[in-house]
Amino acid sequence: MKIELFNTMGRKKQEFKSIMPGEVRLYACGPTVYDYAHIGHFRAYVFVDTLVKILEYNKFKVKHVMNITDVGHLTDDADQGEDKVEKKARKEGKSAWEIADYYTEDFFDAMEKLNVKTPDIVCKATDHIQDMINLVKDIEKNGYTYETSDGIYFDTSQLNDYGKLAGLDIEGLREGARVNVNPEKKHPTDFALWKFSPNNKKRQMEWDSPWGKGFPGWHIECTAMSMRYLGETLDIHTGGIDHIPVHHTNEIAQAESATGKRYVNYWLHNNFITVNGEKMSKSKGNFHTMKDIENRGIDPMAVRYLFLTANYRTQLNFTWKSVKAAEKTLDTLREHVKILQEEKKGGTNLEKVRKYKNQFLAYINDDLNTPEAISLMWKLIREEKGINSEEKYKLILEFDKIFGLNLDKIEIGKILSIEIKKLIKERQTARKNKNYERADEIRDELKKMGYEIQDTKKGIKVRRINS
Ligand code: AMP
Ligand code: ZN
Repeated sequence: MKIELFNTMGRKKQEFKSIMPGEVRLYACGPTVYDYAHIGHFRAYVFVDTLVKILEYNKFKVKHVMNITDVGHLTDDADQGEDKVEKKARKEGKSAWEIADYYTEDFFDAMEKLNVKTPDIVCKATDHIQDMINLVKDIEKNGYTYETSDGIYFDTSQLNDYGKLAGLDIEGLREGARVNVNPEKKHPTDFALWKFSPNNKKRQMEWDSPWGKGFPGWHIECTAMSMRYLGETLDIHTGGIDHIPVHHTNEIAQAESATGKRYVNYWLHNNFITVNGEKMSKSKGNFHTMKDIENRGIDPMAVRYLFLTANYRTQLNFTWKSVKAAEKTLDTLREHVKILQEEKKGGTNLEKVRKYKNQFLAYINDDLNTPEAISLMWKLIREEKGINSEEKYKLILEFDKIFGLNLDKIEIGKILSIEIKKLIKERQTARKNKNYERADEIRDELKKMGYEIQDTKKGIKVRRINS
């Protein structure tokens, strides 16, 4: 079945065709590791993880590369301000390398909690400085650069299709609609490829280059590393929508001016996690990390479930209420799945199973329509005729290859409410004290609440009674 993806380049859904048959070369913009990542960031990575799972479900072999930005991302997008990692290092009295290592580890811890598969290649900017220098040299050779007192810049007026991804009004910008913060820049859209180390301040991270000691501009790392691992033209490149007008626009300029070839075939961008309608971000202070989620006793997988209930291209407003509701729904889902696993009964109808499988594939292949795919799973759970619990269980585990909710590893103890757990414990104590009357009373009480309790040789077994 064909896969359709919404390509930001051209702003329409297109049938996905890989460059190499059966293979996908995918690059995802990774995190800048100067602070804890927040839920907004993780939407970007759960989105990529879902995309990879869908491609693999469609039998593609995916080579997934993600960078770690540990140098060059400045506090100001217009190539001014301080390096975010160095700034944090100064503030915390640590080295820039320590800061980057610490937040990288924290990032992957959270990724694991969200059951996001680690990309095949995770590449740090600081490990690829020579690749970046070589790329800047190619861009320079082709006549797209100029030097100012603080670095080597890309001359965007040399490219006649600069800004094509974002549909930027380049002429408007050039006519000076925006205040140019760097007077040495020839055009407001020009950007730094290589920045010189400042004379008055010693940087911790700096390297020699043909142009002088310094460090790379933020955009060059992704172009250099993606082309190093995936070749000059990639199948898919992802990131959040904030990357469209600057970061990805500049990546295209760098790659295409160096190679003369198209850089990326499909650009995919996730929309924002918002809080009260505003982008969740560090600078606004309206963010929550995965640690905040756990500190409130919320299962991290509830966040993954919440993401799946919305299309990646729509804004998703985060509230504690919504994540708690997602947790509750996920618990109910787990209970249903557990019952199905234990039940194994009914008459089978292969035609119906096939229909469900096809419908599921049609949804996920339609630009990752996970909300409809999730609804389909609930429809299947409620389906009363012509499909047995074993088939339902198998189908749900198949769907979970995309959802990644670990529905094959449910522990009933984890999904019982505190109240139920307390009653079970009380019953065990009553039995130990040979107070069988009280034990039976509790058994009846639990039954009324929808739980059946069985005493087996291996201990007690609890299951939800289908009502
Ligand atoms: P950064 O570390 O800022 O480069 O961001 C890493 C990734 O997270 C990028 O793809 C961003 O576009 C994405 N991102 C950042 N904030 C949000 C948000 N509030 N919602 C969704 N994606 C975000
Ligand atoms: Zn990037």
